[in-house]
Order: sequence, then structure tokens, then C-alpha cells
Amino acid sequence: MTETNPHFVCPACNSVSENVKSCATEACILEGKTMATCNCDDGKHEEVKQTA
Ligand SMILES: [Zn+2]
Ligand SMILES: [Zn+2]
Repeated sequence: MTETNPHFVCPACNSVSENVKSCATEACILEGKTMATCNCDDGKHEEVKQTA
């Protein structure tokens, strides 16, 4: 069985958050904007990077 591990990834700076849907990285072009939802379990966030 695969455990889902939902988290939010910023496709611009690759910062990861588990409970905030907006990027908090200063000077990131996506700061304050909605992050992408990712369910990877290997830390690669490939499903997010594919949309970049
Ligand atoms: Zn960012
Ligand atoms: Zn991920």
C-alpha cells in the first residue's frame, strides 16, 4: 500500500510546506501565491516540477 503524503511545493523555489498553501520565501516570484499540491513520498516532487 502506498501512503499518501500530501504537501505543498513552490515550483519556483522548491520550498516545501505541509500546512501553508502559499510560498513564504522572500523574493520568490511566487511569494504569497498558491503552491502546488504534491503527493510524492521520495522528496523529489516530480509531479510538481513537471508543470513548471
Ligand atoms: Zn517560492
Ligand atoms: Zn513532493
